[in-house]
Amino acid sequence: GALTTVVASGSVHGNPVTILKRNELSIEEKLHQAMETGGFSLNYQPVINVTDNSIEACEALMRCRIGDEMLPPDRFIPVAEKTGLIIELGDWTLLTAAHMAEQLLANGHPTKVAVNVSRAQLTAPKFQQTLQALLTISPLPPSLLELELTESLFMDTSIAVRRNLDAAVEAGLSLAIDDFGTGYSCLAYLKDIPANKLKLDRTFVKNLPEDKKSLAIVRAITRLAQDLGMTVVAEGVETPEQLDTLLGTGVNALQGYLFTRPLPEQQLESWLTDFKGN
Ligand code: C2E
Ligand code: MG
Ligand code: MG
Ligand code: MG
Repeated sequence: GALTTVVASGSVHGNPVTILKRNELSIEEKLHQAMETGGFSLNYQPVINVTDNSIEACEALMRCRIGDEMLPPDRFIPVAEKTGLIIELGDWTLLTAAHMAEQLLANGHPTKVAVNVSRAQLTAPKFQQTLQALLTISPLPPSLLELELTESLFMDTSIAVRRNLDAAVEAGLSLAIDDFGTGYSCLAYLKDIPANKLKLDRTFVKNLPEDKKSLAIVRAITRLAQDLGMTVVAEGVETPEQLDTLLGTGVNALQGYLFTRPLPEQQLESWLTDFKGN
């Protein structure tokens, strides 16, 4: 991609770091541009509960458009985090996702909407107020709002993060551990964290059914997490063979392109209605 090209040519001139930063700077400019032009939107990807074929949740995923260009989240989210823009964007995401959940509920789809939350948002003391304001203005049952956090956030000992997480739990929100297995997955903390859900990272799904070692990990983590009272989701299900294999592991729910790609807001309800009809 463009980034690799810039880094490669940068290293020829002996200073890849500055050039990378310059690249991030242009992404920062684009983020500001998108903020001014209403370029941000949320797509929603349904997660299917395979135990009763219901919708486990819909995950809100941010999209950023500047003119005809779409910036991939893997490029703009890290820059939004570094620059602090993620705080304002994150507030907008929470409000918009809660509004979506409200609308779904009103239209006969009482499904959770899950929102990804970055560390920078949780270190800002303001997060608590955002949540409180949100739940005050919205008639949404808090349990229909889920926060997805990476495992390192649950181990974070900073006071602001702890307070914000406690506040979310106190308010009745659900918490999920996202991308489990990609960080320093520490089993000791699993028993103390207030998450109701564990999302297994798609690296464990990618090479199924051939990769027996990934399969062993999926089975073991699923069993462990369920014994600890958590619902287990496998991410990144793309093939019928992966689906078959995962159904044999006992995981509760599945998410991936096999079911649907993340959907624009206007397509979500009809997808949910069609899914119900099947
Ligand atoms: P994530 O939270 O782990 O989200 C799941 C990602 O996997 C999404 O990528 C989704 O489109 C993708 N995905 C779903 N099914 C499949 C599949 O079958 N195969 C493959 N290869 N991928 C699949 P996306 O939308 O590009 O988002 C990437 C990451 O950006 C997210 O990973 C999350 O960490 C971050 N992100 C996205 N939206 C937000 C947001 O609103 N706030 C924050 N803080 N982070 C966000
Ligand atoms: Mg997520
Ligand atoms: Mg994930
Ligand atoms: Mg991920």
